Amino acid sequence: MRHSSHVEISKSAYLKNLKFLRRTIGRETLLSSVVKGNAYGHGIATFLPMAESCGVRHFSVFSAEEAYLAHRASQQDSRILIMGYIDPDELEWAVDHGVAFFVFDLPRLNAAVRAAEQVKRPAKIHLEIETGMNRTGFEGADFEEAISIIKTHPDEIIVEGACTHLAGAESVANYLRVTTQLEIFEQACRHLRELGITPAVRHTACSAASLNYPQSIMDMVRMGIAQYGYWPNKETQMHYELEHEDGRLRTKASPLKGVLRWVSRIMSLKRVKRGQFVGYGTTYQAMRNQTLATVPVGYYHGFSRSLSNLGHVLVNGRRAPVVGLVNMNMMMIDVTDCNTVGPGDEVTLIGPQRRSRITVSSFSDLSSSVNYEVLVRIPSTIPRVVVD
Ligand SMILES: *Cc1c(COP(=O)(O)O)cnc(C)c1O
Repeated sequence: MRHSSHVEISKSAYLKNLKFLRRTIGRETLLSSVVKGNAYGHGIATFLPMAESCGVRHFSVFSAEEAYLAHRASQQDSRILIMGYIDPDELEWAVDHGVAFFVFDLPRLNAAVRAAEQVKRPAKIHLEIETGMNRTGFEGADFEEAISIIKTHPDEIIVEGACTHLAGAESVANYLRVTTQLEIFEQACRHLRELGITPAVRHTACSAASLNYPQSIMDMVRMGIAQYGYWPNKETQMHYELEHEDGRLRTKASPLKGVLRWVSRIMSLKRVKRGQFVGYGTTYQAMRNQTLATVPVGYYHGFSRSLSNLGHVLVNGRRAPVVGLVNMNMMMIDVTDCNTVGPGDEVTLIGPQRRSRITVSSFSDLSSSVNYEVLVRIPSTIPRVVVD
């Protein structure tokens, strides 16, 4: 059976983003592609092998479940790193499959030692340091205790990495907090080194940090939103544009290209007369004679109800406004100004169509959420296909 919409993943857009991001982080730095949240809605099973075909060999996920999906999708024996949740029962699987993971407290460190003993393979860990995010990470006496456990279990524990996460690298308002975090991280790494622990991979940067704080780049970056072609926020985009403006050419094309295109089709058409109300209630009244189209996508499919009477989609390369309330499974759009429209014609919900484009950020500004949330809300059941 056909789904009422599908998602296209553009390999050429992804290659452009990688080229730009690799230039930003430098040749020596490893790029870990963050594929949590079903690869930010791009579909991990589709996206991951496509990324591998573009040369990416390191992936970061949130949970053991996602690591399992990534491991299954991988065709190149890529390295996988779990940044968050692992059920104690799943640790043995991770250790046995050479999947690395963040360790941010003593219970997980002890469980890692036990898992390594069980499967007779060392656990590859990344020590997460608390530097000011105050979410997860070692500090104080627990950090010292962790170091002594590591020192007494050289056969069970390999400290592959040391890392931290920055609390708001997308805004200059957090400058002091972020730079203080980086200093605390450096101190912790020095401390580890003095005690004979030298993690090969130090990493602190997400997309925004890679773009705004070059000193955060280090041995690896955990690149999420930017690889998919979106700026972490407007401020980061502006920061980049101001730094790279050459005075004459004010508006150079953005170096980031949206990888994802979400498309559906027109289900049916209807003429309504001036003065009539459309859909549930009275939120929309036709101000002229209009041609409306139904699109079989609603908030069940991740098209936010808050885009009712606000959002736009593309038909025949022209913007068609959403009219009335977005329903659970469908919405109405005004196609009066979209030339000749027929059932089955393509409707673009996100991404380019002919010369126009619906950007995720314009979509998300309207529904006052961020790029991240709009993308991950596209259900995993909608099919994804790779296109050139
Ligand atoms: C999600 C996440 C990232 C990637 O963040 P982006 O802003 O999408 O680049 C990096 N590190 C950690 C720990 C994360 O959870």
